Parts: sequence; C-alpha cells; structure tokens
Amino acid sequence: MTQTYNLFINGQFVPAESGETFESINPYNGESIARFARGGKADIHKAVQAARVAFDEGPWPRMSGEERGQYIRALGEKISDSSKALLPLEVADSGSTIRKVQGDLWLSSNQLKYFSKLASRTMERQLEDLSKPGVSNNYTVREPIGVCGQIIPWNFPLMMAIWKLGPALAAGCTLVLKPAEETPVSAMELAKMIAEIGIPPGVVNIVTGFGEEAGAPLVNHPDVDKIAFTGSTEIGRKIMCDASAGMKRVTLECGGKSANIILEDADPEIAIDGSLYGAFFHAGQCCTAGTRLLLPESKKDEYLERLVEKARQIRLGDPMDKGTDMGPLVSKKQQERVLGYIDKGKAEGAKVLVGGGRPTGAETENGFFVEPTIFGDVDNSMTIAQEEIFGPVLSVITYKTEADAVRIANESMYGLAGAVWSRDTDRAVNMAKQLRTGTVWINEYHLVSERAPFGGYKQSGLGRELGPESLHEYTEIKHIHVDELGSREKKFWYDTVVKPGNLVKS
Ligand code: ADP
Repeated sequence: MTQTYNLFINGQFVPAESGETFESINPYNGESIARFARGGKADIHKAVQAARVAFDEGPWPRMSGEERGQYIRALGEKISDSSKALLPLEVADSGSTIRKVQGDLWLSSNQLKYFSKLASRTMERQLEDLSKPGVSNNYTVREPIGVCGQIIPWNFPLMMAIWKLGPALAAGCTLVLKPAEETPVSAMELAKMIAEIGIPPGVVNIVTGFGEEAGAPLVNHPDVDKIAFTGSTEIGRKIMCDASAGMKRVTLECGGKSANIILEDADPEIAIDGSLYGAFFHAGQCCTAGTRLLLPESKKDEYLERLVEKARQIRLGDPMDKGTDMGPLVSKKQQERVLGYIDKGKAEGAKVLVGGGRPTGAETENGFFVEPTIFGDVDNSMTIAQEEIFGPVLSVITYKTEADAVRIANESMYGLAGAVWSRDTDRAVNMAKQLRTGTVWINEYHLVSERAPFGGYKQSGLGRELGPESLHEYTEIKHIHVDELGSREKKFWYDTVVKPGNLVKS
C-alpha cells in the first residue's frame, strides 16, 4: 500500500479537513509514489493561525539570531545525513536525474549552513551622518516581516523549499510553505526533520495541495504579511494582484527566456558544451535555462553542426541510472505543453535540426520524455523565442554585430539570466553590463551560489533570493531616533510650535 503523507501544522502531522488526498506520480513510469493530504482553505487557515501565534507570542522571533542559526544548521546537517533516503524519493517524485538530485541535496544542505550564518548578522545599523552626540542617536533595526506564505514549483522541489525557508527562518519569520502539487515528497520529508530537530511548533507549517485550492487562500489570507513565490510569470502576476489587497510584501521569482550569447572569439570547445548544458540541464526545466542561443553569423554552420551532433548523444532514460543525462519531464501536462511549443515552432517556420518529438524505445516508453530539440532559422519574434517553454527546446538565432546581439537578447519580457562566451573578458563584461537581466555568466552557465543575490529584471520577478539580500526580503526596516537634547527649550519645535502659540502650558 502506498504511504500517505499528512499536512504539517503547528508541529503535528494532520490529515486535510476534507479528508481528501491526491497522489504524486513518478514521471518515469507513471506509477504513484505516495498519497498526500489535499490541503484547502480550512487547512491553510489553521496553518496561518499557527504561524501567527508562533510569530506574535512564540520564542522564534524573540530568540537570538545565533540560536536560530543553530536550528537552521541542524536542519542542513539532517538533510546531509538523510540524503541516501531522500535521493530515490526526490528522483521518483520529480523525474530529475540522480546526478542532479545529488547536487540538489548537497546544495540544499550547504545553503542552510549559509543561512545559519546570515541569522547571526547584526540587524542594527548606525546612521552616522545623522546622529550627533548631545543631539540625537539614530539607527535602523531590521525586524522579521512576520508570517510568510511561500509557494514553490516542481523543478527543484527540495532546493526551492530551502531557498524559501532558509532566509525566512534566519530573519525570525514564521511561515506556511506550499509545495508544488507535482512534487510534494521532499517538503514533507523536510517537515519530519523540522519536527525532529525541535523547531518550535507553528514556526514552519507545510500544506500540500493545489494552486487554486491551497495556494490562492494562502496568498489571500489577511494574517499573512508576505508572499514569496517561485513559478510561472502568469501566476506571479496574479499573486502580485491578490497580495495588493493587504499590501503584503512580495518576492517573485518567475519565468525566463535567457539569451546565451557566443561571441566570435569564444573557445568553441567550452562554448558548445556549456550551451548544451545551459539549455538542456534538467531537460530545460530551469527558469535560468539558456533557451535562446545567439550565434555570430560567421560561425553559424560550424557551431550548429557540432551542437546537433552532441545533442544526438544525450542519453535519455531511467533517472535513477547514473549514466542517464536527461530524464522525463515532470508530468504528462508538461510533456504536452512542450510538444505543443515544438509544433508551434514548426508552424511559424523554424527548422527542427535535431529532436522534435517524443523519443522511441523501451527505456522511455512509459515516461513523459521529450527529445532534446534544436531549432534553427529562428526569428526572435517567434513564439518559441519569446515564451518560456520549460522543456528541452533550444532556439538558435544568428546575429550580425554585437550591438545586434544585445538588442535581440533584451527584446524579451523576461530578464532572469544569460551568458556571454568569449576569450576576451573585458569584451564579455562590457556586453554583460548591457543585458537587462539579474544574472550574467561569462564562460559559464547555471552557476548559482547561496552567497550571491538571484532574481529577475522585468517580468522575471521582483526582489532577490540568496545572498545577504535574501535577508532583507524577510525584514522590515525601522528607524529609531533617540533624543539626547534633554531639555524642552532645545527642541526644534519649541520656537515654532510651543512658544509662539503657547500651545503647551508648562
Ligand atoms: P507551473 O505552470 O510550472 O506548474 P505554476 O506557476 O502554475 O507553475 O505553479 C507554481 C506554484 O504555484 C505551485 O505550487 C502551484 O500550486 C502554485 N499556484 C498555482 N496557481 C496558484 C494561484 N492561483 N495562487 C497561488 N498559488 C498558485
């Protein structure tokens, strides 16, 4: 019998009020991996209430940052200790390859170490240019925002949970996390670890369920102070609207259509492999994926030939097999969506150079696979160059001049990431500065560090995750002014308010 995971509310594992459950499917073989409580409005309400009490009355926001940091570090160690058990669960739930999940687990554990250090950062800053001994002392304090609603997607299930939990906990917030309905297992395993290490009840609540049923009530709940969301731009926009009613703080990490620009002087060996990695890592299900490859016209044929040849060698298959390069997409819905985009690309006149459909063969027949696909003859105005596909589909666009490349790269509603490949660092940096995106890699791709801010320009999002900036996103800033004048007569308002009108009798 398959296991059923309950909701994690106020330190307890409880079924949904409705008693309903849903199952999560292994995208490699279509089999159910487990059942999960189907959280709804009533469950969200309970979870938010628990988080509210934990914030307003509990120890979490009141303990020292160092102490919170110890819990956060302990959670990171738990992940590391549990990685053997977590690995097959995360692979089965998400269809990610074992190689990718090994990286995710290691990164998640390390990221928590970083957030544990962030927790003990001083939250006070003296305003030296304003303060004057004998007049006033001025400083700012950063205080936790309060109860956070956190909604995450299915592409990096555990790591996305950590990006949300880590800075919120470091800042002293309490939270309700809603994992994606496609991939809830690692978040619920995380809930067990949170209970085991003794983070006070109500600080972290995890409610599994669907977007409209559980996500929307969380965003709309009046006792939630902040929403942090990672997912599609379409839902990000909706969340921003919904959150406006209570003027909730929001951070949004949404879609991308990143340009990966190869300059004429690039080292082709590195640029080709790096570009394939940029586009096809995790079957292209990454918001940072380098899905628009910009090639100089003079080198187009040389690059395309090698890209196509190498794309043919990408091995699709069982994600638990270490030899597999690319696993299935997360769901049948996603597979259909991606195949729909491929059809659209063909219909709009782009040319399939490799891939372009479902793979054949026993290894992939029961999974939601799509072949690594490269389109040539792409114009940047085509749907496949403008919309986020979230699958293994690379659009190759050629450019004449570097100014042209910058213009094409920036002709997008997105602005999440991108890369420039060149042997000349100054030249590449000059181009990087002209790109309207939150991250630019030079001769590299997908390298995200917990020590650097991550987020989008334009409709790729709002705010930053990771880095010290992540802590800022979970704190309000308060200015404290301490008067040192002492006497009433020295006050700036004495002459203007008190004396002439004699408003205040002594
Ligand atoms: P995708 O289309 O890739 O699944 P979504 O943006 O739809 O991405 O989903 C990302 C997360 O947002 C998931 O956890 C999903 O349940 C949640 N979600 C979807 N719709 C809403 C909504 N209306 N309000 C809040 N959360 C939502």
